[in-house]
Amino acid sequence: MDFSFTQDQEDLRRHARDLLEAVCPPDYVEKCDVEGRAPREAFDKLAEQGWLGLIIPTEYGGAGGSAIDLAILLEEIGRQSEELAMWVFRTMTYGGYAIMALGTEAQRKRFLPKIAKGELTYCFGLTEPESGSDAAALTTRAEATGNGSYLINGQKVFTSGMDISDYCLLVTRTSKRERKQEGITMFLVDTKLPGIEVRKIDTLGHRAIGTTQVFYNDVEVPADMVIGEVDNGWTSVDACLWYERLCLSAARTGTAQAAFELALDYAKSREQFGRPIGKFQAISHKLADMKMMLEISRLLFYRFAWAMDEGEPTRHDAAILKLYTSEAYKAVTDMGLQIFGGYGYCMEYPMQRFYRDARLAVIGAGSSEIQRNIIARSLGL
Ligand SMILES: Cc1cc2nc3c(=O)[nH]c(=O)nc-3n(C[C@H](O)[C@H](O)[C@H](O)COP(=O)(O)OP(=O)(O)OC[C@H]3O[C@@H](n4cnc5c(N)ncnc54)[C@H](O)[C@@H]3O)c2cc1C
Repeated sequence: MDFSFTQDQEDLRRHARDLLEAVCPPDYVEKCDVEGRAPREAFDKLAEQGWLGLIIPTEYGGAGGSAIDLAILLEEIGRQSEELAMWVFRTMTYGGYAIMALGTEAQRKRFLPKIAKGELTYCFGLTEPESGSDAAALTTRAEATGNGSYLINGQKVFTSGMDISDYCLLVTRTSKRERKQEGITMFLVDTKLPGIEVRKIDTLGHRAIGTTQVFYNDVEVPADMVIGEVDNGWTSVDACLWYERLCLSAARTGTAQAAFELALDYAKSREQFGRPIGKFQAISHKLADMKMMLEISRLLFYRFAWAMDEGEPTRHDAAILKLYTSEAYKAVTDMGLQIFGGYGYCMEYPMQRFYRDARLAVIGAGSSEIQRNIIARSLGL
């Protein structure tokens, strides 16, 4: 068992941190949140440095990095801006990973070099108004036209970043079968195609990029945009969701670390009753718990990244990872806000943003209840 990073990985972390501190400072992150605009400038700077190609094989213009490398990068981006990390992870997962793992050679040649250069961005359309946790119950239809294309009709909800992405990895139903997990097919859909209508949803957090409702009315998509197998796409959706769990956990632990550091600094500088509030056990124990949760989260996501590189991740491990890291993120930001007292509740200070953004972690991408169900099932319950 070896818990150390290689020198290249240490360098990757340092370079990423230096760059991010320069291109994505706190006032920029706050501005994006307040104005509800995507951190495009920071994304472009990361792309210029080739970071979007980190996991893409070298023959397609990437760096050929591992899942551990990706976890390091996302932890660092999350530390600076969770929304930027979400954008990068979506492009890397629903673009890079999906096409690498499930795409045809023609799709790899067409898309991967552009993703590596940061020229294309991606989002994911799975959830529908009537199928959230029960995701496989989706009803958005894709019907073959007989002319080398499919017509897509239906409605998605919570497609995050649809309005700023070039493509959406869209999960559709291509045939009705006995099991709802059968008859499912994924497409790469150009987000600007005729028949697509996008409406922004006003949300508590994640306001820089945000999320959308998307209507598909007779949207014609070429058959060569199918990703994976026709009618047999559910296992491919699952593969993407596991990758997503790694990315989300790494990014959110980075963000939780940033919230922890703010709270720690505040506890050392804010004085009440003639001493720093960090000297009160009620506060110092909170910080000790926050630190412990961060350490456990890091162990979990790096272990999962290692298992991915070894080709051995399990559904049960993915569920524990998602459950623990998102509950820890929520708890850390909640305690952080408490440590800031009344100032934590003010929009002028960044802790409220951490608190708002963290609330999604235990709901989206498989809620905590669903992760507990998966773990319980793995115990034979
Ligand atoms: C801001 C935001 C961004 C999102 N981004 C995306 C995205 O980019 N792409 C995408 O496809 N989706 C996205 N989602 C959707 C997200 O994954 C779903 O909201 C989530 O899966 C829950 O589905 P639901 O909201 O329909 O809740 P429901 O499934 O209706 O659940 C409601 C409550 O019931 C609980 N529950 C449901 N079933 C069970 C059960 N069997 N056992 C115990 N409890 C249960 C849930 O845990 C939850 O507490 C996003 C959501 C939000 C809010």
